[in-house]
Amino acid sequence: RSQEFTQTQIDYHRALQALHEDGTRMVCSSKMHTDRICRFDYLCYCTEGDEFVFFHSNASVMLPNLGSRRFQPALLDMSSVEDHNTQYFNFLELPTAALKFLSKPVFVPDVTFIFNRFNPDNIMHVFHDDLLPAFYTMKFYSDLEESARLLFMEGWGEGPHFDLYRLLSSKQPLLKEQLKDFGKLICFTKSYVGVSKMTTWYQYGFVQPQGPKANILVSGNEIRQFSKAFMVKMNVTRFAEVEKTSRNAGDESEKDEYIVVFSRSTTRLMLNEAELIIALAQEFKMKVLKVSLEEQSFPSIVQVISGASILVSMHGAQLITSLFLPRGAIVVELFPFAINPEQYAPYKTLATLPGMDLHYFSWRNTKEENTVTHPDRPWEQGGITHLEKQEQERILSSQEVSRHLCCRNPEWLFRIYQDTLIDIPSLLDVVREGMKTRLSFNKSKPANKIHPGKVREPQCQTSVQATDKAQLIISWKIPWNLKYLKVKEVNYEVWIQEQGENTYMPYIIQQQNFTFSENIKPFITYLVWVRCIFNNNLLGPFADVLVCKT
Ligand code: UDP
Repeated sequence: RSQEFTQTQIDYHRALQALHEDGTRMVCSSKMHTDRICRFDYLCYCTEGDEFVFFHSNASVMLPNLGSRRFQPALLDMSSVEDHNTQYFNFLELPTAALKFLSKPVFVPDVTFIFNRFNPDNIMHVFHDDLLPAFYTMKFYSDLEESARLLFMEGWGEGPHFDLYRLLSSKQPLLKEQLKDFGKLICFTKSYVGVSKMTTWYQYGFVQPQGPKANILVSGNEIRQFSKAFMVKMNVTRFAEVEKTSRNAGDESEKDEYIVVFSRSTTRLMLNEAELIIALAQEFKMKVLKVSLEEQSFPSIVQVISGASILVSMHGAQLITSLFLPRGAIVVELFPFAINPEQYAPYKTLATLPGMDLHYFSWRNTKEENTVTHPDRPWEQGGITHLEKQEQERILSSQEVSRHLCCRNPEWLFRIYQDTLIDIPSLLDVVREGMKTRLSFNKSKPANKIHPGKVREPQCQTSVQATDKAQLIISWKIPWNLKYLKVKEVNYEVWIQEQGENTYMPYIIQQQNFTFSENIKPFITYLVWVRCIFNNNLLGPFADVLVCKT
């Protein structure tokens, strides 16, 4: 691979001259290190020192120019996990004059996209932390799209899911350890460092207990666009689509419906899986397919998931495959004894993202006699025998793991790695409940997601009736986009505030004008805001404030 970078693709002398004369040039986005991505010309990396190097010349550029604030705590996050202190990026500075004392640089001609994978061994982390963020970062910077050279700097080996990372670009991704093969000083002609956090929905509990991110910026639409693109790259077509084309018109689609049971074969087992599969098939009169990461290729799993009506799985990384479920599918996530589903919700959060259109349900084992614990295993698989007797006893008698931080809480690990004998009747209840909501959902039309524009030409007339009685007559015109839309219910919200007060009176109005007389006093200035609302949940922007003097 290193041969790819030899002088044939790049005019070596010109590159060297450019590095000597111009040094490194860096321009970054964002004022905050947690939102920052930097673009470099001639960023270098010294393999012996394991440091990126910024070469200063008269022509070099460093924006933001933070001085030593660059180390407080870092220039940027190299992974999509926010502000994690093992994932910081910075560089060492040298004058270009130092180049004559260093090894001859090797130039990487490709536009290189440099970031850290967070946990490439775990398929949930692969998608949530790396693939989705990288995919959309590459959409944002057009010279990254399709043909960037990805460079993973976290220092791990390829890992079990490297084929998925390969799908991001037409070029083979590089690992940090491979840089050594190229030479001692590697200079990236053009590179981007850092990866977007825009698509992540979950925080893992490093500073507060795990949970959905406070400000989720991704919707089901973007997730589904990603899934679609990845399915194309994996050469997977949805089962449902294949079958639809071969089916005679008028056939009921229900006939092809099937349930997928996602099995884990080493830890957190469903001990009576076979029985569960039979029970599901009998109860719902559907085929039940079993998949597991240990037995199938990932694309073949995606193929099966992409046509499923119901996905049943223990809590665990394999549930990230629900991002390939068709709209309207049901996700049933099972939790071992003493684990509160509400507190471990990466898959619930995914399934319930607006526009993801999945139906999420959880089931938990409430019967202690149905759990199989593994106190003797190593601590990272939930063993507790290394703990003091008293602490072991406390854990064994506890009925629910209380909120905790990531990642080594022994009680959490002990409970989450239990195997479970599934209480089939209670699980079937949950799935049945899911089927009911799905049926009522499928009948209702897909909801419109277009927001109203501003109401136009808002106006205000006033009149005084008596010394203590006045009126505000407010009118407006419909938002400009409404005439192009079919909206079931259009309402207007009017806020009226007495100038100088800090409270306001809100009203919901159906028509385009209204006379307000309640609580309206003469010789007062009122501030009035009007906005349109579609279907009771899609809020438009307020029109410019009206100033109304009675
Ligand atoms: N894994 C698996 N089968 C198992 C146990 C784990 O395929 O029986 C996979 C799992 O999907 C994940 C990785 O191994 O990609 C690490 O699993 P772990 O239990 O550590 O993480 P979790 O599933 O709890 O996120």
